[in-house]
Parts: sequence; structure tokens; C-alpha cells
Amino acid sequence: MAAGCYSCRTISKKADDPVGTCLGCGVFACELDGERDLSNQDFICGMCDSTRLSISSKLAQPPEEPPGRPEDGPGGGVVSAGVPTSPTSGGGAGAAIATYGSPEDFEGRRPMIASSSKAHRELYRQEIDRIVNQLEGLRAFGVAQRVSSDSRAAGLAEFDPRGVRRAAQELGAQIHADNTRGVLSPVLLADALGVAAWAINAKVGGQPAIGKIRHLPDPDLRLIVGLYTPLTAVA
Ligand SMILES: [Zn+2]
Ligand SMILES: [Zn+2]
Repeated sequence: MAAGCYSCRTISKKADDPVGTCLGCGVFACELDGERDLSNQDFICGMCDSTRLSISSKLAQPPEEPPGRPEDGPGGGVVSAGVPTSPTSGGGAGAAIATYGSPEDFEGRRPMIASSSKAHRELYRQEIDRIVNQLEGLRAFGVAQRVSSDSRAAGLAEFDPRGVRRAAQELGAQIHADNTRGVLSPVLLADALGVAAWAINAKVGGQPAIGKIRHLPDPDLRLIVGLYTPLTAVA
């Protein structure tokens, strides 16, 4: 049986014929679901590009280890946001994750993914201040507690409600701290969310399907896309 595009086979049913293997997660991707980075030739799928944008926005920490270690297994380790990497060491083993300096940098290096995800990204950009505000609110125990019993969050992760509550609270505290210090880039975060929603084939302005959200590699993006996607589409 011939290999096909991961997204077309499992998520979106578009073109199927793969043109490359994602450097981030190892899946085959077609020309509609993955693209080379024009600055460094990394071939990256849309799913992993959402993670790169999230790291670029300073929401996510880069992984501790370079991706593609065979002993980790495919999709094995969810990156824990707990332990920060040393900010002063300028990258170790050479396989540092490429990040985007600005939304324009992303759009220039990923023209196909940027243009395919444009409508999603624009919707998140319009709503990003409200979303960041709501995310900051998650640092309060009661708010995080409510979220952990929301079925949209409960379906996202393997962990129990207490785990969801803890993760939500940590995410809220981190976003609050980063936003207060002016570290967080809301526009790049909006782009990360838009690319994530596009990559799982969500309808613009519609509630993404939980079964598809679970394909996103970054746990924070799973939580945010599941709970805070702006809903504008008429049901
Ligand atoms: Zn495809
Ligand atoms: Zn990938």
C-alpha cells in the first residue's frame, strides 16, 4: 500500500500524495499540508508549524531535546512546559528549533501554510486580546476548576480533570507573567492558534472537533483551541 499524507488520510481528505516527511513529527505530508521553510529548507507539517509559532510567541518552551530521537517513539513525549531551558546558552546540539521573529517572518518563510491558514489566523487575531485575557484568568483556582469539567477540555487530553485543572492553572499563570513582562507576542500566538485550527481542518469560526484537536502536538494549543476558538459561524 502506498504511503499517503497524514492529514489527508486522517483529518482532511485533500490531496494525499506526500511530498515530504515532517522534520518535527515524522509524518508524510502532501503539498497542501506541509511545506519547506524557505530560509532553512526544514520540511514541516502544519501541525508542527503551529507548535513552532507557539514557541515563537513565547507561549511554549522549546523541547529539551532535539526532535527525532528514535528512542522517543512517534508522538511519544508530550513536551512538559515545566522546566525552562537555560535562556543564556545559545543552543546545544545544533538541532535548535527554528522560530519566527515576527508574523511577517512566518508569512515569508511559509507562504503556502500562511495563505491557507489566513482566514483562521485573522479571526484569532481579531479576538486575541479577549483570548489572552481569558487565559490569564485561568490562574485562579476556581476558573481552572470550571474549565477542567468542561467537556471541550475533558476530551482534549489523556489526563484526569485534576490534571487538566493543574495544566490550565499553570498555563494561566505563565501567560499572565509573560504578558505582564511584555514577553508574549499576541499576534504570533494568534497565528499559532490559526494554523492549529487550519491544520486540523476546523471550519473558520466553528467549534473544532475534539477528536481532531487531539492530533495537535502542543498540549497548550489543544486546550486553547478547544476552549477559546472564536465562534462566528452560524450553526
Ligand atoms: Zn495532505
Ligand atoms: Zn509534523
